[in-house]
Amino acid sequence: MTTTDHYDVIVVGVGGMGSATVYELARRGKTVLGIDRFGIPNTMGSSHGLTRIIRMAYWEDVAYIPLLRRAYELWNETQARAGEQLLYITGGVDASAPDDDVYKGSRRACETHHLPHEDYDHTELSNRFPGFVLPKGMRAIYQPDAGFLLSERCIVAHVNLAMARGAIIHGHERVVNWEPAGEGVKVRTDRTTYSADKLVITAGPWANKLLAPLLKELAVPERQVVAWLQPKNPEPFRFGNLPVWIIQAPEGTFYGFPSWGIPGFKLGRIHHREETVDPDNMDRECHPEDEAILWSFAKRYFPEAAGRALSMETCIFTNTPKGHFIVDRHPDCPQVVLGAGYSGHGFKFASVMGEILTELAVDGKTRHNISFLGLNRVGTWNRDLRSK
Ligand SMILES: Cc1cc2nc3c(=O)[nH]c(=O)nc-3n(C[C@H](O)[C@H](O)[C@H](O)COP(=O)(O)OP(=O)(O)OC[C@H]3O[C@@H](n4cnc5c(N)ncnc54)[C@H](O)[C@@H]3O)c2cc1C
Repeated sequence: MTTTDHYDVIVVGVGGMGSATVYELARRGKTVLGIDRFGIPNTMGSSHGLTRIIRMAYWEDVAYIPLLRRAYELWNETQARAGEQLLYITGGVDASAPDDDVYKGSRRACETHHLPHEDYDHTELSNRFPGFVLPKGMRAIYQPDAGFLLSERCIVAHVNLAMARGAIIHGHERVVNWEPAGEGVKVRTDRTTYSADKLVITAGPWANKLLAPLLKELAVPERQVVAWLQPKNPEPFRFGNLPVWIIQAPEGTFYGFPSWGIPGFKLGRIHHREETVDPDNMDRECHPEDEAILWSFAKRYFPEAAGRALSMETCIFTNTPKGHFIVDRHPDCPQVVLGAGYSGHGFKFASVMGEILTELAVDGKTRHNISFLGLNRVGTWNRDLRSK
């Protein structure tokens, strides 16, 4: 290998997590190279499609809540520095049968962490937000701090801020492999070879290829589809009239947004058609069967929104066995840090992940409690717990 350049830190993958990491590293005065195999931002990984939900009532596990507090703080800071609104607060609704995870966990999160919230039955929810038509028996937690992030704009903001502090970013350059070199690393791309003291791998759906065999079975890509439907009556679904929402129902767990940015009511089903994929060979077309899943759900729970799709897009989840992220140092190479397996609910954390991955790379430890996200905690498969 011929080495052309040396950096303090190389970040592989400048998507949601990598863009925040190059920014935090550059803020710390490190020489940093971010490399992405596609453009920045791109529509090939996990961070496109305009919007991502952010919420405090973390029904999956209250251990995420301290990280969320810091994530909100950092998103606010980043949008102020970027001079562009990235975070839109709409409030959020988490609904299910009273004993199911989404309602029960959301309520527990609010109570444990003293988050303001309101607890509605199906009629009260429709009175407050007329777009929802939930069946009798479902309950909903409304938490006012939830909202959405403009995911591609967040990547652009982080990368612009990083470049303003001297970060070097290369798009359209694929990392082929990496290897330890003394206490540092060598990174070979389809163009050349670089060296660095530290390496951060934030390769989204490709993480298990760059970290094989370590993550082969632990960070598994899955095809997703989201749709924007034409509402019959747009009013209840406008920004300002509809919160972001998650509904756990017999048909599956679905999520969605008020209309924003492009026409239509955006929704998706977590794990969509449960299709494990290779991101290099995935079916990136959207089909009538994809639309049917989303349309039938809308027809029952948001009948006024259930028109034909105006747009559809594929995207990729990278699932771990229990749906918890993998944020750790490489067990055999402590100079390599990985942020992977964000299991369909990672974007909202990207700001704080930038801070955590930077601290792990530079200091070897982080001030945040991420013990529940370590490689030793990844555990065995349990699909039901995977969420968004
Ligand atoms: C449909 C959908 C809905 C979602 N909804 C939400 C939500 O509402 N809220 C939420 O918080 N999260 C949500 N998520 C999850 C969230 O979007 C992801 O967890 C997050 O985007 C993951 O970011 P990442 O940086 O790991 O991956 P990415 O943003 O995909 O970045 C990985 C990057 O690595 C690059 N790369 C890969 N391999 C190489 C290589 N060999 N060389 C160079 N570059 C490489 C890729 O090109 C890519 O740009 C959703 C995900 C999907 C798909």
